[in-house]
Amino acid sequence: MTAAATRIRATLCGAVQGVGFRPFVYRLATELGLNGWVLNSGAGLTVEVEGPRERAETFLRRLDLEKPPAAAVLTREVSYLAPAGFDGFEIRASDDAAEKTAGVLPDLATCAACRAELFDRADRRYRYPFTNCTNCGPRYTIVLDIPYDRPNTTMRGFTLCENCRREYTDPADRRFHAQPNACPVCGPRIGLGIGEAARALEAGRILALKGIGGFQLLVDARDESVVERLRERKHREEKPFATMMPSLDIVKRYCRVSAEEEALLESPAAPITLLEPNGNPGIASGVARSSPYLGVMLPYSPLHHLLMEAFPHPVVATSGNRSDEPIAIDNAEALDRLSGIADAFLLHDRPVARPCDDSVARLSRGRESVLRRARGYAPLPVRFGRELPRVLAVGGHLKNTVAIAIGRQVFLSQHVGDLDTWEARRSFERAIEDLCRLYRFTPEIVACDLHPDYASTIWARASGLPVAGVQHHHAHVASCAAENGVEGAYLGVSWDGAGYGLDGVIWGGEFFLAHGGRFERIAHLRPFRLPGGEAAIREGWRSAASLQIQLGLPCDCPPPIRRMVERGINSPLTTSVGRLFDAVASLSGVARENRFEGQAAMQLERAIGGGATDEAYPLPGGDWEPLIRQVVEDVRRGADPGLISARFHNALAAWIVEAAAAAGVERIIMSGGVFQNRYLTERTAALLEASGHAVYTHQRVPANDGGIALGQAVLARQE
Ligand code: ZN
Ligand code: ZN
Ligand code: FE
Repeated sequence: MTAAATRIRATLCGAVQGVGFRPFVYRLATELGLNGWVLNSGAGLTVEVEGPRERAETFLRRLDLEKPPAAAVLTREVSYLAPAGFDGFEIRASDDAAEKTAGVLPDLATCAACRAELFDRADRRYRYPFTNCTNCGPRYTIVLDIPYDRPNTTMRGFTLCENCRREYTDPADRRFHAQPNACPVCGPRIGLGIGEAARALEAGRILALKGIGGFQLLVDARDESVVERLRERKHREEKPFATMMPSLDIVKRYCRVSAEEEALLESPAAPITLLEPNGNPGIASGVARSSPYLGVMLPYSPLHHLLMEAFPHPVVATSGNRSDEPIAIDNAEALDRLSGIADAFLLHDRPVARPCDDSVARLSRGRESVLRRARGYAPLPVRFGRELPRVLAVGGHLKNTVAIAIGRQVFLSQHVGDLDTWEARRSFERAIEDLCRLYRFTPEIVACDLHPDYASTIWARASGLPVAGVQHHHAHVASCAAENGVEGAYLGVSWDGAGYGLDGVIWGGEFFLAHGGRFERIAHLRPFRLPGGEAAIREGWRSAASLQIQLGLPCDCPPPIRRMVERGINSPLTTSVGRLFDAVASLSGVARENRFEGQAAMQLERAIGGGATDEAYPLPGGDWEPLIRQVVEDVRRGADPGLISARFHNALAAWIVEAAAAAGVERIIMSGGVFQNRYLTERTAALLEASGHAVYTHQRVPANDGGIALGQAVLARQE
């Protein structure tokens, strides 16, 4: 292994077994002089190659172009991993868990062939909203049981007609064994006409549409008043709405789109992709509100294609629920729960087996980074380096996901959401039951957070199973290490808004020396008080006031806040970098509040804009005192908030570089919600790489608390 070696893992799903794929991979890898292995796994086929980066990437390209003719690759997940030092290339024996887990694939966006049929007047499926084939269509959201066979799906109530049966049983047909195969004669139908639905949007009404993984609420994204009405009715004040746009050309009218972002938008997963608006007018300001990004997806089902043809404009497409509740999936439930929100309903009679929101992804360090893992990704597993005990991991409290470990694979549930409401907790329990039932899984141990008040922790403690508590920030970095194939010692930088520490302090600015499932906390942000506790998370100005008071700086905050900080009443200590972001956002006048998680930090990142500089505030060993003094001084002098923001971000990056040098470890893992910040992540990674470090950040799994379950699953051990 040379220092420059790159290891790439590709997991391919689809018709990839028994078609000569493994020998093809073997020949290609050896021809390119790459080391590694290939095996048939539950997910399909997994291959790892290691060698010079350029050749490894050539391998990826040729894997696509030269694959055996009988192979059909439906999804391809690619990860850049820590080098493993392979010797030669081998075809490995299949995973033991392969059989049990085979066949459950994510939902796939409509393929080009089906799209062509959809708009072909001569085709018998002309304008049929449930067109699909072996290469596309619903999977995870229709499967009720394994093996994945029509009687085990929500299509079991629809009897194939003569024509469809012929396609389904003909090995030469592109619908051979396409389980959701259907046509206007025998398949599911919609209630409202597409034309009527489009007219409802045109008339500025709110449309509830039953999609792939549940209901969506759609409105004309150009119409300020209907966007506001949707916010009021949904009780969603500030959190940005995602959009769906009819075509890539229209996306480019409103956003900057790189080649990589284009590929992400058009991938079979078709996630909501976070893009930078290009400043062109047309989208209502109420869509993204204070968010610097616009979430955009392309139509991914025939129903969406038809609707976007009839209404060829950007629409808001948000999950069909009231804020903080899970997405509605069946007709009766939707008519009941969404009746106060939607003006029109576009229903159909294909049942949805389980809720699956639209996924969210973005580009970070030039690679795909998934921020919300659901439709199009779930339930693809993450492969781990060794066998794991039969762990059920119940995740955190916010952005919850759950996971089960089977052999070397960890199956992550789709995004469940925040567990604040009764409905959300019910859907969390259903996600656990569902995952265990689908994979015939009986846990022997349940892993949870150490926070005693998380709904997930309470569930774990009441489950009657042996419980393994996993520290929140340790779970963050372990999840990132796991998905990056990092084994052995590493420096884990675990920064987020809040997590339960081991010393009664709310952690969130931690440096861990991690090794073999253990960690040593070698550095952290200097603690400060959060007056009002939870209230300070929403009201970021409280963190600013606290820091000013602790430094004896003048502060015009309400006297009760001052008393709370000075006497330490209802003011827990924290080392959270997320809260430090809030403080600087408030001091610099960028944002005083978080009306959704991470809002102030997002606005502070956006403020950098053209104010980029290499200057950094001093933050020696994580002591914020000199930093805050200079921020206050800069504000007094009327410095540009963008400049203040850049100096602040640069200070954080410099601190990580300094800590990495002191730790003397080559491999650096960065995880936690703070690293959804692209400027910070990319700058820090570049500096670390320039000083000889190997840097690992999230790709397949969220950096936020959506990744906690994976970390818990790989760290759990029976005490
Ligand atoms: Zn298709
Ligand atoms: Zn039919
Ligand atoms: Fe966290």
